[in-house]
Amino acid sequence: MQPINIAIAGFGKIARDQHLPAIQADPNYRLVAIADPHASLSGVPNFPSLDALLENLPELDAVALCTPPQLRHSQACQALAAGKHVMLEKPPGATLSEVEDIKASATRANRSLFASWHSRYAPAVGHAAAWLSERRIERVNIEWKEDVRHWHPGQTWLWEPGGMGVFDPGINALSIATAILPRPFFLQTASLSVPENCQTPIAASLTFSDRDGLPIGAEFDFLQTGPQTWDIHVDTSVGRMTLAQGGSQLWIDDKLEYEGKDREYPGLYERFSQLIRTGQSDVDVTPLRHVADAFLNGRRTVAAPFSDSA
Ligand code: NAP
Repeated sequence: MQPINIAIAGFGKIARDQHLPAIQADPNYRLVAIADPHASLSGVPNFPSLDALLENLPELDAVALCTPPQLRHSQACQALAAGKHVMLEKPPGATLSEVEDIKASATRANRSLFASWHSRYAPAVGHAAAWLSERRIERVNIEWKEDVRHWHPGQTWLWEPGGMGVFDPGINALSIATAILPRPFFLQTASLSVPENCQTPIAASLTFSDRDGLPIGAEFDFLQTGPQTWDIHVDTSVGRMTLAQGGSQLWIDDKLEYEGKDREYPGLYERFSQLIRTGQSDVDVTPLRHVADAFLNGRRTVAAPFSDSA
C-alpha cells in the first residue's frame, strides 16, 4: 500500500515531541514537508505558511494541524478545500460552530477529518472504561494540575481568546472522562480564576452531574509546582478506581492494576490512516462542549497577573 504523504503545519512543542516521532515510526506515512513561520526540520522542504505548502506540494495527501487553536478553522478549511485529509490537534477548534463548519467542509471535499483527542489513547483508558462498565459509580473527582511555566513556556496564545488557558490541558481530562463514564454528563457550576492581564483562566473548579445525579468534580490548576497531577478518581460500590498519570496507570484502591507504555500519538496516527483508507471521519466535540459550557456558565474571579518568568 502506498504511504500517505503527510505534512505538519505548526512545528512547535507537540509537533516536535510527539507528531514527528509517531509519523516517522509509522510505515503508513511519509513526512513530506513542514509549514511553520520560523521553525524548520532538516531533510524535508520547509514552508513559511500553509498557503505556500499547499501551493507547492500537489502530491500531498494529508496535513496534521499542530498550530494554536485560534488557527484551526481557517487552516482546516483551506487544507480540505485543497483536497487534503486533515488531522486536528486538540482542541478541534476555538468554538463549536467552527468545528461544525470544518466538518461540513470535509464532507463537501469528500476527505477524512480526524479531531484527535490524544489522552483517549493513553494506555490505561480502555481498561478503566471496561472496569467501570461493570460497577456502580458513586462519585468522580478529576484533578488536573500542572505547572504552565514548565510545560508551556512562551505560549502566549494560551492567554488569548480561544486559547483556553488551563482548559488547554483540562480538556484532556474531559476527553478521558467522556470516554470512560457510562452516561453523558453536563456542567452544573464553574468557577474560573482569570489573571487580570489574561483573557483565559489559570485555574478552574467545576461540578458536573448526569441524569442519575452522579456527582462529578474537576479541579484544573496551571500553577502547580512540584509533583504534577493528572488523575481521575472514581468511587464505586466496590472501591476506588484511579486513572493516574494522564491515563497511563490504573489503580484499584491502593494497588496498581495496570500500567502501559505511552502510545498516544502512534495510536492517533494508526486511527488517522484507518480513517483515510476507509473514507471515514471521526469528529467528537463533547470535550469542547464542556469547556464552552464552563465559559458560558462560569463565575469569574480576577487573579494576580500572570507572567511566564515570575
Ligand atoms: P506551540 O509550541 O506554540 O507550537 C505552535 C507552532 O505553530 C509554533 O511553532 C508556531 O510558530 C506555529 N505557527 C503559528 N502560526 C502558524 C501558521 N500560521 N502556520 C504554521 N505554523 C504556525 O504550541 P504546542 O504546545 O505545540 O500546541 C499546539 C497545539 O497542540 C495546541 O492546540 C495544543 O493544545 C496542542 N497540544 C499541545 C500539547 C503540549 O504538551 N504542548 C500536547 C497536546 C496537544 P511561532 O511560535 O513562530 O508562532
